[in-house]
Amino acid sequence: MREKLTSADSGDPLAVGVDIGGTAIKAALVGVRGDLLESFHEPSPRTASALRDFVHSVLKSAKVPVRGIGIGCKGIIDADSSRVKSLPGDLHFLEGQLLSEVIAAGDLPVCAENDARTALIAEVLWGAAKGRRNVVMLTLGTGVGGAVLVDGAILHGAGGAAGHLGHVTVDPRGGLCICGNYGCLETLFSSRAIESDYWAHMHRAAPVKLSMGSTGQPPDTKAIFNAAAEGDECARYVVDRALEYLGAALVSFLHTFDPEIFILGGNIAAAGPQLLAAIQDKITRRTKILLGREIPIVFQKTVGYGGVAGAAGLVFLEQGLLTI
Ligand SMILES: [Zn+2]
Repeated sequence: MREKLTSADSGDPLAVGVDIGGTAIKAALVGVRGDLLESFHEPSPRTASALRDFVHSVLKSAKVPVRGIGIGCKGIIDADSSRVKSLPGDLHFLEGQLLSEVIAAGDLPVCAENDARTALIAEVLWGAAKGRRNVVMLTLGTGVGGAVLVDGAILHGAGGAAGHLGHVTVDPRGGLCICGNYGCLETLFSSRAIESDYWAHMHRAAPVKLSMGSTGQPPDTKAIFNAAAEGDECARYVVDRALEYLGAALVSFLHTFDPEIFILGGNIAAAGPQLLAAIQDKITRRTKILLGREIPIVFQKTVGYGGVAGAAGLVFLEQGLLTI
């Protein structure tokens, strides 16, 4: 699917940003000011050639030359080589591959990075953290992703896996996580965690106001947040408990990274002020002795397009058209 957004400012450098997710792949022609000129999306590719065809169809739609292709992808991506080091699940076919080779765009430069990091880069270049050099971002969705900017540089770590903030232990006695650890933040504050906790209460015949869907699926996170606001005791309990874990993790991240600003992104963050109101005071109280100030916790500005914009941002940064 193709959507025309704004007309290009003539002369502004353009790059293609691509965001490869587990269910959908998105792309856009992005201007150096963070404007999306045209965007594209379709279900996630299941083969390398399908990925290549999608990106080439986007390239063909560009009326003027682009500076390069930036790719944000789930998993552990080696930003120096564009190699996909680890990518379990439906996109496993990309594991071990160089994205620059898969895309095969000739002389056009190809940059790649983990998708949580591209979302952070979009916020730093054009969004809620514009101009900041110490920023932490958490993406709250089906899972929990994270990315960290320290003194102007994205934190990669020795093996490229730094910043997996969703896999910090918040309950040492907690359940087994997809990563092999126990009690990770992702097992306690993610849409899967919140939905399965509500379902467990339904299954135990606790007093709940929501019901199962026609095909037996539990209520989704949005419905559970709404029910909590409307006085469903069980939803209230589930949400409060999840927020307690999120708050504990946020305190640890603030103490660890001492950022200027903390960004919450992803589709759960769309629950908005309600999410923060419940935990902001506690977090401030628990961090002000060590940090000496209240660190703003804000929501992602580039909702829905941060991944593609930030991926294009990789190209602009690489070529010195923008700096952090
Ligand atoms: Zn984990």
